[in-house]
Amino acid sequence: MAEKTILRRGDTVRVIAGRDKGKTGKILAIADGRVTVERVNIIKRHTRANPSKNVRGGILEKEASLHVSNVSIVCPGCGKHTRIGRNVQADGTRTRICRRCGTNLDQ
Ligand SMILES: [Zn+2]
Repeated sequence: MAEKTILRRGDTVRVIAGRDKGKTGKILAIADGRVTVERVNIIKRHTRANPSKNVRGGILEKEASLHVSNVSIVCPGCGKHTRIGRNVQADGTRTRICRRCGTNLDQ
């Protein structure tokens, strides 16, 4: 079942649980209720050289995905991680807002 999330690629998030708790970064990818955040949850992948794909062998460092519940969006207005509120503007467009200070997160 697809997880309900209102996070988007490019959002800045803070990790609130797990090994990289406290780190912040931008969302690089989001899929199936999991997000990949830059420089967070780095795994070392031991790869074998594959000349046809131009892959060098060795230890490759790569971001692994985290569950969306382990990250929280960082508000550009107040700089804190926050829950996301919804706001419907006069023209009917929906925006995401910071529950702490009301800053529009979709600008
Ligand atoms: Zn805020």
